[in-house]
Amino acid sequence: MTTRRWHGGQLRWNSASQAWSILAPGRKDRPHVSGREGCPFCPGPGEDTPPETWRLPDGDGWLVRAVPNRYALSDRHEIVIESPHHDWDLSTATVAEAAAVLSAWQHRHREFRSGAAQIAVFRNHGPAAGISLAHPHSQIAGLPVLSEPARRNLEIAREHHALTGRSLAEDMLTVELSTGSRIVCSDEEIVALSPFAGTASYEVWFMPRTSAADFAAAPRSTVEALARSLRAVLAALRAELSDPAYNLVVHTAPTGYEDAPFASWSVRLVPRLEIAAGLELATGIPVVTVAPETAAARLRARIAPSLVS
Ligand SMILES: [Zn+2]
Repeated sequence: MTTRRWHGGQLRWNSASQAWSILAPGRKDRPHVSGREGCPFCPGPGEDTPPETWRLPDGDGWLVRAVPNRYALSDRHEIVIESPHHDWDLSTATVAEAAAVLSAWQHRHREFRSGAAQIAVFRNHGPAAGISLAHPHSQIAGLPVLSEPARRNLEIAREHHALTGRSLAEDMLTVELSTGSRIVCSDEEIVALSPFAGTASYEVWFMPRTSAADFAAAPRSTVEALARSLRAVLAALRAELSDPAYNLVVHTAPTGYEDAPFASWSVRLVPRLEIAAGLELATGIPVVTVAPETAAARLRARIAPSLVS
């Protein structure tokens, strides 16, 4: 039985599935705060966070700031507080505000690389997505090991590149753009699409037109296009499904693979509309109840025509 001590908890190796699990008893002490009352992230007298590690200034105040996570999963686990405003939301943000959040993710990702095999960047929205504090925030967590799905994705992409000389992500985009029925919106930088075989109803992947391994190295123009696309799709999802819970996750090259020609980054939006039940648990196979072609058509219909090309 293999265990690794890890920041007040343990990483345990499941030798049957060849995968890690995390034992983090301290996480159960997280406070649950939904209103402005008692919110530790709202600026003012009630503000209560560990000392700030990074901020994007805005006049005398801040636009986005990073602080260590008080209920950390690792010694590299930060919260990105996305706005000083408690009711701010990524779906109603300006493009500049959304781009500032993405820039914070890039900055903190680069900062965490030394000593981390993999860095998770994610945003939870709504109680069903695991949120404990309602104030808009995202999280960056560095892991000392590479997860099994990340290792497998890397291996599949490497094999495809070795066989064809092309990136798997670019080949997938070529097929999706010529088919068209699963495209939600696109511009010259970013394509948002419903994956052919996804893991959840209304799942959307945001992919750069030109495949690249490292999300943190994406240029400003790509980050702004991603911000525009994200807020448009999130607004469409909110209107279509009355503000559903979701997780937003950055898939990017693990540490050491930032320049790998076969690797590619994407940002994935996974709505939490259904609870994984017995079949999923028994087989590991997700059950999706809304066809991606239907979901894409409904979201597309709610997005301003100027964003759809
Ligand atoms: Zn707040």
